[in-house]
Amino acid sequence: MTSLAPVPCRLDPDLWFSPDPVDRHYAVRQCRTACPLLLACMRRHATSTERHGVWGGIDMEERAARLRSAPTGAQPLPTAT
Ligand code: SF4
Repeated sequence: MTSLAPVPCRLDPDLWFSPDPVDRHYAVRQCRTACPLLLACMRRHATSTERHGVWGGIDMEERAARLRSAPTGAQPLPTAT
């Protein structure tokens, strides 16, 4: 049996829902660089209208901007950074 790396949002979930943009930027970076579930989470939340938190490496401001700019409500997936 193999073990996966820890899922970052489970280690300090408050940062994923912090009102502080510095905390959310940290959470986004953790998602994108350290989460073994990134692609699955990104797909799960690609069309989410969730208004709070960082999901799949996307914070609520970026998610809202993607929803506003998507012509059919579909969101383009973020590119790797
Ligand atoms: S990509 Fe999803 S599961 Fe992974 S740390 Fe971010 S919010 Fe959590």
